[in-house]
Amino acid sequence: MAQRKKLLLFDIDGTLLLTGRAGEHALRLALKERFGVDDDLTGISFAGSTDGAIARQMFAPHKIPPTPENIADLFDGYVRNLALELPRREGRVLPGILELLEVLHGREDCVLGLLTGNIERGAELKLSHYGVWDYFEFGAFADDHVDRNKLGPVAHSRAVEKHGARFGPEDVFVLGDTPRDIDCARAAGFVAVAIATGSCGKEALAAHKPDFLFEDLSDTQGVIRTLLGS
Ligand SMILES: [Mg+2]
Repeated sequence: MAQRKKLLLFDIDGTLLLTGRAGEHALRLALKERFGVDDDLTGISFAGSTDGAIARQMFAPHKIPPTPENIADLFDGYVRNLALELPRREGRVLPGILELLEVLHGREDCVLGLLTGNIERGAELKLSHYGVWDYFEFGAFADDHVDRNKLGPVAHSRAVEKHGARFGPEDVFVLGDTPRDIDCARAAGFVAVAIATGSCGKEALAAHKPDFLFEDLSDTQGVIRTLLGS
């Protein structure tokens, strides 16, 4: 019988790392460069959103049609600027992440993937800049769907494809820093793990009733015991 494995799906911003708002700034620059619009993006809801949903919010007040061509154009500008912005900004990998990824990556019973509202090119730039891209074999990204709640099954089927293993819903953990990550886990019937290292406080996350809630992931062995049992 195949060994039963756990699938851990990580959000990026506010969960694995903070980029010092390099992403927001790169989007703002892209909007200016590609569409001639200077907008400080106040009022845009970034946390837990997908890049596709953010692009639509950015276009709406300026009557830019959210066509696939316009969105692709914005993202090309975004990726170009993100590569320049990441080293200029003071970001960091969040507490305990490197240690946790290192331990989980070394375990045969764990599979690590991404479940993120970032487009894949943006995710790769951010994670590579902070040296954590190689821990993840695959992911579900904003390229797959504009609605984050549709991304859980995408990540799950990629894991099955790669590993030929079955992952029951109780073996799939969605780790994120916003209520939207909790909703995304719920939408797929997966386990919701909230971490208060992003823009959302612990109380606000608790109100959304995640299955597990951590201040941060710095207690590597404690986190592993809590989530995986041993
Ligand atoms: Mg996040």
